[in-house]
Amino acid sequence: MADFDYICIGGGSGGIASANRAAKHGKKVAVIEATAIGGTCVNVGCVPKKVMWFGAHVAEAINLYAPDYGFDVTVNNFNWQTLVDSREAYIKRIHGSYGNMFNNNGVTLIEGFATFVDKNTVEVNGKHYTADHILIATGGSPVQPNIPGADLGIDSNGFFELTEQPKRAVVVGAGYIAVELAGVLHALGTETHLVVRKHAPLRNFDTMLSETLVELMAQDGPTLHTHATPTQVIKNTDGSLTIEFESGESIETDSVIWAIGRKPSNDKIGLDKVGVALDERGYIKVDKYQNTNVEGIYAVGDNIGYVELTPVAVKSGRLLSERLFNGQTDAHMDYTLIPTVVFSHPAIGTIGLSEEEANKEYGEDNITVYKSGFAAMYTAVTKHRQMTRMKIVCAGPEQKVVGLHGIGAGMDEILQGFGVAMKMGATKADFDACVAIHPTSGEEYVTM
Ligand code: FAD
Ligand code: NDP
Repeated sequence: MADFDYICIGGGSGGIASANRAAKHGKKVAVIEATAIGGTCVNVGCVPKKVMWFGAHVAEAINLYAPDYGFDVTVNNFNWQTLVDSREAYIKRIHGSYGNMFNNNGVTLIEGFATFVDKNTVEVNGKHYTADHILIATGGSPVQPNIPGADLGIDSNGFFELTEQPKRAVVVGAGYIAVELAGVLHALGTETHLVVRKHAPLRNFDTMLSETLVELMAQDGPTLHTHATPTQVIKNTDGSLTIEFESGESIETDSVIWAIGRKPSNDKIGLDKVGVALDERGYIKVDKYQNTNVEGIYAVGDNIGYVELTPVAVKSGRLLSERLFNGQTDAHMDYTLIPTVVFSHPAIGTIGLSEEEANKEYGEDNITVYKSGFAAMYTAVTKHRQMTRMKIVCAGPEQKVVGLHGIGAGMDEILQGFGVAMKMGATKADFDACVAIHPTSGEEYVTM
């Protein structure tokens, strides 16, 4: 008889969620975690990032908005380490609550790095553990560019290890992480440069979002450098760094932060021993039920190269356990209409198709677009007026809402309910039928 019904390799978002759900259905479950319980999200991702973002909000409230609200504030000091200590204490409490959850659900935590021995056996610290079903939820890690001096820079993991605030920083990359870290550093007072190799950050998002972000960065944000491809990083005699670009330009800085994407952590776990197939980019190939090509081995989360978000890893992990251990034979993840937020300054929220994608999918004649733009009220009474822009993309004569986008104060909290409406197939008329909450930014979505 196997040691466990179910082993989850990786105690991150996907592994923990799937393990707890399996245990709730009475299964004997183990989670194997090589570093810290909670994975990327809890330790070096969503959670510490959001705490830093809140810290940046406090700084913005004091520096940008307080004076026109009548506060004459003198800041004696900003202590980076205090913010880091508060953040890490919070993360420690999350570790504790995960431990309690495992205890309550009867999940065994095995600490160490797992490698496959055969399709039902993994080895951790020289000990073998067997299971009928094994989930690979090993997540991913940041990539660095292949240029001289790249290792003089740090990545997002290194950012969360910083014990001192860099006076100057260059953040390289154009996705979520680059935009978020550059925004936080700038708001906290670091002289920050955001360097993108193409024409804009977040260029795969709806153009309105990317353009507005660029506009707002020019107003109160990091210095943006476009069409800038780094060629090397040099350490200067005074300890500072110089990052050089193809154009011949360079920036002197104290810290270079690479945020140019992530790669799956699949290469060292002995997948070759069991024959689990990878795609050409190294992600584990799965079908819609999270099955790999090897019976009894499954994968969820960042290592399958679908949508790299915590709630996606959590949901697909839980649905897998419902299918395997609770008789829900067709339970599987639906990857459409996933709401997502970039914690920029201000936040960006998006669900479904961009206007560009909707035009391609339905044809321009079948698309109706509604837009709104205004200065967010919180900022409108100050000298730092900040635009909010919102868009609804509707398809067909019934005007089904297929895309919803926004950039502006509070967008991170506005979107969730609209995600529910869109999952239910809401049309523009359904939006209009909802009474507005006034005065808010969110009300614009039901009054356009
Ligand atoms: P992970 O959470 O990475 O967990 C994998 C775990 O497996 C790790 O703990 C690792 O140590 C362990 N592991 C790997 N190999 C082995 C092995 N062989 N044996 C044992 N253990 C192993 N998503 C959001 O939704 N919202 C956000 O705001 C957000 N912010 C982010 C900010 C940053 C800076 C980053 C990097 C990511 C962010 N994400 C965010 C993405 C989110 O963190 C990931 O999508 C999510 O953590 C993926 O979960 P996972 O279970 O696939 O992998
Ligand atoms: P992304 O893949 O989102 O973005 C990285 C971007 O960097 C690329 O899109 C590319 O943009 C640019 N890039 C790639 N290679 C290079 C290079 N060699 N030099 C310069 N720029 C380059 O990766 P991230 O690391 O930002 O984030 C990974 C994932 O984690 C995200 O996709 C997201 O799913 C998740 N995440 C979610 C968050 C949230 O929910 N708020 C926050 C953080 C992460 P271009 O082609 O335009 O140059």
